[in-house]
Formats: sequence, C-alpha cells, structure tokens
Amino acid sequence: MNKRTFLKLSSATIASSAISPLSAWAAPDKLTNWAGNLEYSTESLYAAKSQQQIQDFVKTHPKFKVLGSRHCFNNIADSKDAFLSLKPLDEIVSLNAQARTVTVDAGITYGQLAPLLDAKGFALHNLASLPHISVAGACTTATHGSGEKNGNLATAVSALEIITASGDVVKLSRKEDNNFFQGAVVGLGALGVITKITLNIQPTYQMRQYVYENLSFAAMKDHFDAIQSSAYSVSLFTDWQNRNFSEVWLKTRTEKGQAFNAKPEFFGAKLATKNLHPIAALSAENCTLQMGVLGPWYERLPHFRMGFTPSAGKELQSEYFVPRPHAVEAILAVERLRDQITPHLLITEIRAIADDDLWMSPCYQQPCVTIHFTWKQDWPAVSQLLPVIERELAPFQARPHWGKLFTMSPQQLHASYPKLPQFLALTKKFDPQGKFRNDFLDKNIFS
Ligand SMILES: Cc1cc2nc3c(=O)[nH]c(=O)nc-3n(C[C@H](O)[C@H](O)[C@H](O)COP(=O)(O)OP(=O)(O)OC[C@H]3O[C@@H](n4cnc5c(N)ncnc54)[C@H](O)[C@@H]3O)c2cc1C
Repeated sequence: MNKRTFLKLSSATIASSAISPLSAWAAPDKLTNWAGNLEYSTESLYAAKSQQQIQDFVKTHPKFKVLGSRHCFNNIADSKDAFLSLKPLDEIVSLNAQARTVTVDAGITYGQLAPLLDAKGFALHNLASLPHISVAGACTTATHGSGEKNGNLATAVSALEIITASGDVVKLSRKEDNNFFQGAVVGLGALGVITKITLNIQPTYQMRQYVYENLSFAAMKDHFDAIQSSAYSVSLFTDWQNRNFSEVWLKTRTEKGQAFNAKPEFFGAKLATKNLHPIAALSAENCTLQMGVLGPWYERLPHFRMGFTPSAGKELQSEYFVPRPHAVEAILAVERLRDQITPHLLITEIRAIADDDLWMSPCYQQPCVTIHFTWKQDWPAVSQLLPVIERELAPFQARPHWGKLFTMSPQQLHASYPKLPQFLALTKKFDPQGKFRNDFLDKNIFS
C-alpha cells in the first residue's frame, strides 16, 4: 500500500477557511483523510459553489481529484496536484414521488439526505455503517451495507450527471444509456466530476434492531444461509478467538411479513439485555438504538449515529468481498490465522450483499459476503498481515474494497474484473489525457 500511509497521525481536519474559493491555494492545516492515517499529497483545495465554478475548475486544471468526505483509508482520493470539493453543493435538487427518485447535489452526505427524505415520506434501500459519508464518494467506491437482498449503495443510482475532462456535462441514466451507465456508477473517481446523482427511493419504513451475543462458529457453519436470511440486514462481529461471534446485529423492517420474531435465543446466541457497541468494551453511546426500539430506517440501518464518532475512531480498515457460495469456507480459512490477526484487530464484521450489474463493483454478477477488519492504527503490522490474509483468500476469488487498505497486486485485481477493458475504454472516452488519474488509479487500474 501507499508509502505515505502513516506518515502522519495528526487529527488535522479541513479547516473551513481552506474550503473557500478565496483561500483556494493556501490551506493552513495539513489535509488528512478521516482516520488520519493518510496525509494527502497536496493542500490545494478549492470548494466549488456552482456548476459554473466546477466547469471552470475542470477546464483550467490539467490534473486533480475530487475529494468527498475523506473516509477512504487508502490513497484512492489522493492528489499531488489539487483537490476539488463539492461540499457546499449539498441540496436535494428534486424529488419525483411518482417515479420514486430523488436527485441530489454530489456534495450531500447520507446523514444530510436521509432525514429530509424521510420527512417527505421516502427512504433508501440501505445505508453503510455510518451516515457521515458523501453519496458520490460512497457510490463511486461501491460502498455497501448489509442484507443478502440488498445491493450496495450504488445500485440505487438511476442517473448521473458528470463533468468530463473537457468540461462538458454528460448525463447518463439506467433507462437511456445502457452501454455506459453500468460502467460509470462505480467509476472510482476516474471518469470525471459527478455533480448530480439520482437515486431510487421507496416509501419510508420503520425498523427495529436486535443484538444477540455469542453465536458459535459451528452454528454459523451449519446455518449460514438461515442466519443471513433471518433479517433485512445481518452483521456478525468477531475478534476470531474462541470460535465465536461476540455479537450478531439484526436489523428488521416492521412491515407485515418481514418483521423478525425476536426470541431469547438465535441459533444458540442470547438476546442482549442492553445496547452494545460492536466492540463490546466500548460505550454504545455512539451506536444506533437496539433492544427492538422502533425507529426510522435511517436511525437503524447504520451502526453509528450522526453527530457521534463512527466506529472506533483511531483505526484502519480492510475488507474483502468473497462470492457467496465460498463464504463459510473463506471465513474458516481466515479463522485459521486468528493468532496472527487478533493482536492487531479491533473487530471483524461479516456482511452479505446482493449481486449487481455495475462493472467495477466487487459484487458484479455475484452475490457476496464481506469479511471486514477494523485494525488498530499500526500500519507496519497490518501491512505485513494483509498479504497473508489475501493469500488465504485467493482460492475464493476475493476482491478488496476499493476504499480500504489492501496489498493485492494489480494483476490479481485485473483478473477479477471481467469488464475492466470496457471500463478502461470508458475512461479513455471521458478523460483521454488522464486528468482524473492519481497514483492509486495508475497502479491498480491503468498499469
Ligand atoms: C468509520 C468508517 C466506516 C465505514 N463503513 C463502511 C461501510 O459500512 N461500508 C462500506 O462499504 N464502506 C465503509 N467505509 C468506507 C467509505 O464509506 C468509503 O470508502 C466511501 O468511499 C467514502 O466516501 P467519501 O466521500 O468519504 O470518499 P473520499 O475518500 O472522499 O473519496 C473516495 C473516492 O470518491 C471520489 N469522489 C468523491 N466525490 C466525487 C465526485 N463528486 N465526483 C467524482 N468522484 C468523487 C474521490 O475522488 C475518490 O476517488 C467506512 C469508512 C469509515 C471511515
């Protein structure tokens, strides 16, 4: 992984003055990603407040990256040249109740969008573990939640507006652009500046969240499919010790026929008697409410509450997508590495995601199960461990999360994306000179 990772552990954030057009080239603080493990390679950051400003910026800059909410752990968002932020552009542009779509500015976060959508009587199909991330950044990296019938967040996209390298506005939609659309949605930031996104919505719904403690690996192995299909969204947490999942989080919709019957036992695991953090030793204060308390979809689908620090805070993350048929075998393969993994781990989460048709999505034409690692912030140790895990997962055709830390070779990545040649052709069309490329893309996609 990038040698710059861990050059700086300071918690410097984007000072608000640094994202004003007036101070575009003089940010006072070092610019880092959310976790603080990556200091970006430039501090030149320009915040556009209008479509015209975006187009002017695109036309006058030979090379730059769009910076979303900075939640990636690797250098996919990094630039040596300049950053464009769309943070000030965070409005709902239109809501079409009949077509059940909402069009948003690309700077909006799920945390901003969800309550507004709910107030209008609508909802999204799923959310990631935290609401703090930008819709554009999440979709372009195939960010996901959980639920075997739920595609990743990008599967909700029905149309996109992109400003390409020439400064032209291109509109793509699932309905009209069957050739490009599937390639552009998970675009890895390589195609242009996404300025507007249209998402499919559905009538709002209520949810309950239940946590069970201590599910044995034996029960997981024998009942994996039944466990995954038991609720709308299922997450299993483990530190890989004692052949045990310390917690099982079940998020259930309350509509007729869908509600989960919360019995005291779940495949031998016991219903928790208080709210829990996925890392049991941490306070559950920043977590969404559990214990079956009824609440709106956007306050139950994420694990972490808006306004609080998500996850553990000072951490690193890696995640591997494994085709669903290999899930149990892959989990057991990782478990064999438990004594190497646990000392560096905060927690692992296992989730299920439905297949999709988006070319660069790790779930392209295959339902997946993800094996996620929240690591202690010790990159030297984690960087030694990732190749070991990746070697163990290689027989299962594992693909890494685009926004998290991995060490897999570009050759391995290329081999697991059958639509890569078409994606490369699309990038050439939208960005012939490589304006939107950076080290991450040059190494992992274009090499
Ligand atoms: C605590 C924590 C929890 C997380 N939980 C989950 C989870 O549950 N599930 C999951 O899958 N991931 C999760 N992630 C990973 C994260 O959500 C994704 O990596 C996502 O990309 C973050 O979006 P962002 O806007 O912060 O991206 P950034 O890091 O800012 O950017 C990512 C990429 O998007 C591009 N981009 C951003 N905006 C635009 C735009 N308008 N036009 C073109 N390109 C753009 C950037 O150039 C870059 O290539 C988590 C991360 C953290 C820190």
